[in-house]
Amino acid sequence: MSARITDGSHVEVAVVGGGQAGLSMSWQLTQRGIGHLVLERDTVAHDWADRRWDNFTLVTPNWQCALPGYPYDGADPDGFMKRDEVLAWIRRYAESFGAPVVEGVLVTRVREGAAGGFEVVTDQGTITADQVVVATGGYHRPVLPAAAGRISGSIVQVHSADYRSADVLPQGGVLVVGSGQSGAQIAEDLFLAGREVHLALGSAPRCARFYRGRDCIAWLDDMGVYDIPVQAQVGGLTKRESTNHYMTGRDGGRDIDLRSFALGGMRLYGRLIGGGGTSLAFSPTAEASLDHADSVMESIKTDIDRYIDRAGIDAPREDRYVPVWRPDEEVTSLDLDEAGITSIIWSAGFRSDYSWVQVGVFDGAGHPTHQRGVTAAPGLYFLGLPWLHTWGSGRFAAIARDSEHLSSAIGDRARHPAEAAVPG
Ligand SMILES: Cc1cc2nc3c(=O)[nH]c(=O)nc-3n(C[C@H](O)[C@H](O)[C@H](O)COP(=O)(O)OP(=O)(O)OC[C@H]3O[C@@H](n4cnc5c(N)ncnc54)[C@H](O)[C@@H]3O)c2cc1C
Repeated sequence: MSARITDGSHVEVAVVGGGQAGLSMSWQLTQRGIGHLVLERDTVAHDWADRRWDNFTLVTPNWQCALPGYPYDGADPDGFMKRDEVLAWIRRYAESFGAPVVEGVLVTRVREGAAGGFEVVTDQGTITADQVVVATGGYHRPVLPAAAGRISGSIVQVHSADYRSADVLPQGGVLVVGSGQSGAQIAEDLFLAGREVHLALGSAPRCARFYRGRDCIAWLDDMGVYDIPVQAQVGGLTKRESTNHYMTGRDGGRDIDLRSFALGGMRLYGRLIGGGGTSLAFSPTAEASLDHADSVMESIKTDIDRYIDRAGIDAPREDRYVPVWRPDEEVTSLDLDEAGITSIIWSAGFRSDYSWVQVGVFDGAGHPTHQRGVTAAPGLYFLGLPWLHTWGSGRFAAIARDSEHLSSAIGDRARHPAEAAVPG
C-alpha cells in the first residue's frame, strides 16, 4: 500500500473505498491495464476489524468468499471465517496483486470537472480522474431511534457497529433493540456470555442454517436464487431496503431460534415505539414477529423441497420446525432500572451518506440511481451496495460479477469516451 496522491495529478480511474469492493474493482482494472488509484480514508478493509464484535463470524459460507482472481482456498470452504480471519484474507488479496491503495486519505468531494471527467477533492489535495467508482460500502451512518436521545444518562448506549463484547459492558441486564442479522447475533453473543438479555424484535425474517443435509445458502445458490436481479424480485427496487434474514455462522453454523433463547430466560418484546428516562414502550408484536420470521424460514424450506423433488435429488428428509415457545402475554412497557438493565445496544441498521458525491445522480432520499452501478453521469459508478444488482452485491458473493460488469463499462468508456452507453 505504498501509492501516494500528488495534488493536481491525474488518474484514469479513482476508486473511492478500500474494502473488498474497491479492491475487487482494482483487480479488474489491473487486469485490463487501466491506470487507477484506490483512495481509502483509513486502512484496507478496516471495517471488518473496527465495526464487528469480537466473536463475529461470517454468516455466509467461506466458499462464497470469491473475490475476483482470489477464491477462498482455505481448509474450510463450508465453514465461516471469524472477524480477524476475514480481515487478514482481504489484506492478503490487496497484497497479492499490489493494489495501488492510498491509505489514510479522505475523499471529501467528487464533482464533475469543467472540461469533463471528475475533480476528486481529498484532505491531501485534489486530483482529477476520467472516471470514478464509489465503493464506500452501504453502511455509513448508524441509525439511532429518537428515543435514544431521551434515555437516562445512567444507561450505557452503544450502536451495534461499536459493540465489541459482553465484557466491556457494565454489569447488569442488556437491552438489544432490533432483531436483524446484527441484533439477533449480538443478543446471542450476550446470552451465551451469561448476560441477562432483553430483545426488542423488529420484522426481520430468518432462515435455517442447514436443511436436508446442506447449508440453505448452498441450496439457494444451486436454485439460482442469488442470480435473480433486483428488478425481478417481489417488490422490485424496494428490496434494497429489506432486512437480512438472521442465522449465524458461529461454531460451525446454526439457526438462531429466539424462542429457545426465551425458554432459557431471554425476554422478548415487540417493536420499540417510544420512551425516555428509564421507561420504554413496545408495540404488542413480539409473537407476530416470531411467527413472521418462522414462516419465512419455513417457506424457504418449502422452496428447497420443491427444488429437490423437481431435480430428483436424493437428500435426507427433515422434520419441519415446531415453535418451542410462545409469549404468555405481550409486554408493552419496561422500566430499565426496575429490570436491572444497565445498557442498550441499538441494532437499528445504518443509513447511507453520499453527501460528498456532488453529482446529480441521487433520488430524493439520497440514494444513487443507477443500473447495475452505472449512473447517468458518464464515468461515475457505484459498487458494493446492497442489492446493487443481486442478493450478493453488497456481500462477498457477487462482488466479482458486479466489478467485472463495471470494469467492462469503464474499459468501453476509456476506449471510446464519446460513444460509451449511458443507462436510460
Ligand atoms: C455486521 C455486518 C455483517 C456482515 N456479514 C457479512 C457476511 O457474513 N457475508 C458477506 O458476504 N457480507 C457480510 N456483510 C456485508 C459486506 O460484506 C460488508 O459490509 C463489507 O464490509 C462491504 O465491503 P465494501 O468494500 O463494499 O465496503 P466497506 O467494507 O465498508 O469498505 C468501504 C471503505 O470505504 C472507505 N471510505 C468510506 N468513505 C470514504 C471516503 N469519503 N474517502 C475514502 N474512503 C472512504 C471506508 O473507510 C471503508 O474502508 C456484513 C456487513 C455487516 C455490517
